Amino acid sequence: MSEIRLTGVTKQFGSLRAVDRVDLDVAAGEVMCLLGPSGCGKTTTLRMIAGLERATAGDILIAGRRVNDLPARARNVAMTFQFYALYPSLTVAENLAYPLHADGLDRAAIAARIADVARVLDLEGILARRPHQLGEGEKQRVAVGRSIVRQPTCFLFDEPLSRLDIQLRQQMRTQIKEVLERLDKPTVIVTHDQIEALTMADRIAVMRDGRIAQVATPHDLFAQPADTFVAGFIGTPQMNLLPATLADAAPVGPDGPDGPGGAVARFAVLGGALAATAPAAVRQLAPGSAVTLGIRPRSFLPASQDAPGALAATVDLIEPMGAEMLLHLVREGADLRCVVPHTTRIAAGETVGLCCKPGQLHVFDAAGVRVA
Ligand code: ATP
Repeated sequence: MSEIRLTGVTKQFGSLRAVDRVDLDVAAGEVMCLLGPSGCGKTTTLRMIAGLERATAGDILIAGRRVNDLPARARNVAMTFQFYALYPSLTVAENLAYPLHADGLDRAAIAARIADVARVLDLEGILARRPHQLGEGEKQRVAVGRSIVRQPTCFLFDEPLSRLDIQLRQQMRTQIKEVLERLDKPTVIVTHDQIEALTMADRIAVMRDGRIAQVATPHDLFAQPADTFVAGFIGTPQMNLLPATLADAAPVGPDGPDGPGGAVARFAVLGGALAATAPAAVRQLAPGSAVTLGIRPRSFLPASQDAPGALAATVDLIEPMGAEMLLHLVREGADLRCVVPHTTRIAAGETVGLCCKPGQLHVFDAAGVRVA
């Protein structure tokens, strides 16, 4: 039984459908990130789970109970907007105790809860300090502590790290992940930062225009994006998405036409041709079918411009990225991106042949859906 279950959840603001028939299951102990561009409905979905917004349609279940008609307070969820809301005049222990006074707990019970949280979050040595005597990472841990001290059934976080500088963000991502693993409660985190989602989530729900485009593990989302939207949204630098036409596809290896070896496919693309190994399912498309080819910048291998099967393109700009370089190339007015080691000898103005590394070509049909 999933601990949080959304079925057909919809939110209408006047004529705007902010969330559109969302189905989502979050298991006990699972960290689910809602990821997507601004305005796609992430926060509204979270607020409906928390009880801060009423669903127009659909069912919201927490721990097996339908909570649509329960007020926020009765749902026993912990919703954290940012990990920063500490009272400056209170000690760490008093900050942690604050949410418990409202619950009417006695002194002994409050002390026991604080001891518990302090142990989980390594706060034991700083309980008597005030916020101005804490480092940034410690402040964040106390703020997490405040949201868990009430022992909620689930945790909801809205862009928890958005106000932090990059270094602290990196540090907090792993710390929070560790803490959430120890707590073993269902957790939903809203973020528009894919690195945050990829590092913290067990699974990610990518949202677009109020709907869920794909729910998958970080690995599967990257390796098998369900459509061109997810393919272009996940991964930096962004995947190359090239309109193309299938010329032909022949089976690879000894396994026969539907074997796991896939197909060697040839495509007409940007006025030229590209040949690459493709998923076996490409063989079910008729020659002449319109497709979109998805090739990540690290899946392109520059070779000589007349290399067999390669797509020739001219280097326009070279962007240093530390150990790697990002090549911006042009062909027929289209921009292509290719990442190479920084030691690669290449100059702007040079024309190279781009080969797709074996097994790294994504193919999407005319509707933008993955061919697999
Ligand atoms: P962001 O990352 O920018 O916060 P989001 O994905 O969290 O975006 P939501 O805040 O859920 O998106 O908003 C989804 C849509 O609903 C947006 O178009 C937003 O303008 C609209 N919206 C949100 N709250 C309200 C409201 N109270 N009244 C009217 N429209 C709203």
